[in-house]
Amino acid sequence: MDAARPIVPSGFESSPPGEDAPRATPVMEQYIEIKAANPDCLLFYRMGDFYELFFEDAEVAASALGIVLTKRGKHLGRDIPMCGVPIHRADEYLNRLIALGHRVAVCEQLEDPAEAKKRGSKSVVRRDVIRVVTPGTLTEDTLLDAKRNNYLLAIARARASIAEESRFALAWIDISTGEFRIAECDRAGLAAEIARLEPGEIIVSDALYGDAALAPYLRSLAAVTPLTRDVFDAATAERRLAAYFGLATTESFGALSRLELTAAAACISYIERTQLAARPPLSPPVREAQGATLAIDQATRSNLELVRTLSGEQRGSLLAAIDRTVTAAGSRLLAQRLAAPLTDPAAIEHRQDAVEFFVTDVAARADLRERLKASPDLARALARLALGRGGPRDLAAIRDGILAAADIAAELERRGELGDELAQTARALRRLDPALASELGAALAEELPHLKRDGNFVRAGFDAGFDEARALRDESRRVIAALQTRYADATSVRALKIRHNNVLGYFVEVTAQHGERLMAPPLNATFIHRQTLAGQVRFTTTELGELEAKIANAADRALAIELETFEKLAAAVTAAASAIKDAAEALAVLDVATALAQLAAERHYVRPQIDASLDFIIEGGRHPVVEQALTGDSSPFVANDCDLSPPPSAASGRIYLVTGPNMAGKSTYLRQNALIAILAQMGSFVPARRAKIGAIDRLFSRVGAADDIARGRSTFMVEMVETAAILNQATERALVILDEIGRGTATFDGLSIAWAAIEHLHETNRCRALFATHFHELTALAARLPRLFNATVRVKEWEGEVVFLHEVVPGAADRSYGIQVAKLAGLPPAVIERAKLVLAKLEAEERASPRGFDELPLLAATPRAAPPRASTAEGVLAALSALHPDEMSPREALEALYALKAKAAEGG
Ligand code: ADP
Ligand code: MG
Repeated sequence: MDAARPIVPSGFESSPPGEDAPRATPVMEQYIEIKAANPDCLLFYRMGDFYELFFEDAEVAASALGIVLTKRGKHLGRDIPMCGVPIHRADEYLNRLIALGHRVAVCEQLEDPAEAKKRGSKSVVRRDVIRVVTPGTLTEDTLLDAKRNNYLLAIARARASIAEESRFALAWIDISTGEFRIAECDRAGLAAEIARLEPGEIIVSDALYGDAALAPYLRSLAAVTPLTRDVFDAATAERRLAAYFGLATTESFGALSRLELTAAAACISYIERTQLAARPPLSPPVREAQGATLAIDQATRSNLELVRTLSGEQRGSLLAAIDRTVTAAGSRLLAQRLAAPLTDPAAIEHRQDAVEFFVTDVAARADLRERLKASPDLARALARLALGRGGPRDLAAIRDGILAAADIAAELERRGELGDELAQTARALRRLDPALASELGAALAEELPHLKRDGNFVRAGFDAGFDEARALRDESRRVIAALQTRYADATSVRALKIRHNNVLGYFVEVTAQHGERLMAPPLNATFIHRQTLAGQVRFTTTELGELEAKIANAADRALAIELETFEKLAAAVTAAASAIKDAAEALAVLDVATALAQLAAERHYVRPQIDASLDFIIEGGRHPVVEQALTGDSSPFVANDCDLSPPPSAASGRIYLVTGPNMAGKSTYLRQNALIAILAQMGSFVPARRAKIGAIDRLFSRVGAADDIARGRSTFMVEMVETAAILNQATERALVILDEIGRGTATFDGLSIAWAAIEHLHETNRCRALFATHFHELTALAARLPRLFNATVRVKEWEGEVVFLHEVVPGAADRSYGIQVAKLAGLPPAVIERAKLVLAKLEAEERASPRGFDELPLLAATPRAAPPRASTAEGVLAALSALHPDEMSPREALEALYALKAKAAEGG
């Protein structure tokens, strides 16, 4: 344990002997009452320098935190399990409990224990919960990732009739920055939005949480909190939302649907419940129009490794590769923009203009980046101050942020012609009041403690009363030090210490070994025994008691003045909340613009042309992540072109069918084009010589996989489910990347599925697409599908070895080079020779009787099967709904599929 504690916290002693039945002590009564009001939380119950946990809470926390579980006092005749965390380490323990999915109610002492004593010796210090800590409502730097937003997301659903699909409204708030947004979506969009936002916590109504259709999905997400109906009450929603902002109506927020108001009000109500008296300064809610951002579903996001790699690391992701921001707020904004690229060409161009400004003006970029580096995280400091959780360093952050903002605004304006986005940031920075910075500057000392209760943060000379009290206090501290030396001499105990804690105040402490001597004559005349711990014995003396009173007085007075000063400054900061928030956002926008310019200059990116066409022309495109990984390599990245624009006289875009051996670079090529599209639409420059993209509205990416029997999960099933989603959803404006679909099953099955999928993409979806495959039989399709183009990644055979050129050219791979790759991989020569023989024989047979795919009619011409008779359909449906795919092995799934098919055939 970190500090010594009294064995029994005062108030928890068992009832005095002699009473008949054991009764709860007054402190225990208070504890039980507060705990009853917060049944779903672990209760951190403040006692002196510790947060104590009792009963079941203690057992849960002790095992979760790996701290000692003790027994203290008795309740109704039984031991009370207890554990505690020292307040100076509370953040760290909170962090671990929150990460494990717990919620913690923090119960503080609301008065000085001395106040309670005045009401009588038995009276209990007033305590109450001042905050409920949940994963979605954090503000502390130690609990948050500085570079990511932490959203609380509320989901409301409109009751749907059987015929139509349910609608959902989402409202999300980051209380650590004040952002507040609202959007509507359908069921398919719901999962995509959650994947985009990666909320720290989701709140839903009890009813939604229990909904049979949605429950499995909701339960698969982390930190979903079901709440009672009233939080999601539509009738009171508008009033609750308006009240939070001190408004009479929500008209100024634009036209919000009833459903959106419900979600927004639920978010607000939850914040009120968890923050109790405090109110984080929120921006008015911004409604995200549907279709304003590029829709990217969960599978595509993880596939393309946008913010983390498939193995879960940030390194190696697109975000890590492009992040050149120098502030945490800039990093958060960059991540936001990457997660939600735009679809409106004009909006994209605004962002591009800002980037271009700093690509062109090299000096301005370098200069601003230096200044930005020195600018603190204004938004989070503000949120903490407004919530009463701030410290002196947060005040300093506001001061430095205001100074940096003024500096940066002046610098920007000096540069002349600014585009829309930059002119707007300069205006926002100008709105900050420099007088606030001066006020903070005058009041704050040079060196600042982390916590306000540590004191000593007010500058000497700022407040005469404070200076006087501090001088007195520091003087007495020297006297204590002298007293310790004197006592050590008098007792000949070198290790004698004078210490302080909130329970005993000042005390003399010696190790157990010396304790006896101080308790025996003559020393016991001076030293009065107070307490015996495992290793130490504690005493007081009359002299120490007197000194203590003097010190306490001066120190209390000094601290009281400091805290009062703090509250005044914090109030001044909170009063300027809206201007500070806007400036913080402007700084983030600048950081992102300069960082993207830096990236463009460093890595030779170009400004892509975005319009409303269906074009997709990339010249000399590169993979932004692979390219950087190859830097310094002997073989640099090979740039490749891609043109998915509609061919002359066609109305829809092309499909590229990319063939080539394993390791040739097919996957890299597919992904680089998807990543270039994302970069382009988020407003960044792109790794290419030239790019022109007709804005994409939805991006899909799927990778085929081998059946992973070892993990007991049919990845082929997953692959098919995801492919189905694309074929059902992609429209003309979508971009689809399909990588080796059909590889996870037997050759003929796989080939047939890939074949049919391409036909469907071409005839029905009519989207722009890239399809990589090792089935070179598929290249025959190009003869009959006018917008399908064959491309291949070139390889060269040299002295029997295969050399990868990574160059994408028109045409089809002549063969798969599997044996050459196997040789490269080190298969024994005898196996390689034998394989060559087998291959030669198979190929000879194939030539003798070709498979003749050419005669297959196209998809549209395939006769549609007559609908099965009703009874059969019912039978199949019943069998289907009895299946539990998640619990099946791949083999079982396959068998079930056969059984279903047989059932269907019965009726056929
Ligand atoms: P495939 O999908 O055809 O099996 P990959 O795309 O996985 O091949 O590429 C295999 C490796 O080849 C990659 O890990 C990368 O290091 C290298 N590579 C791919 N494309 C290029 C390129 N254009 N220039 C340089 N190296 C490349
Ligand atoms: Mg591949």
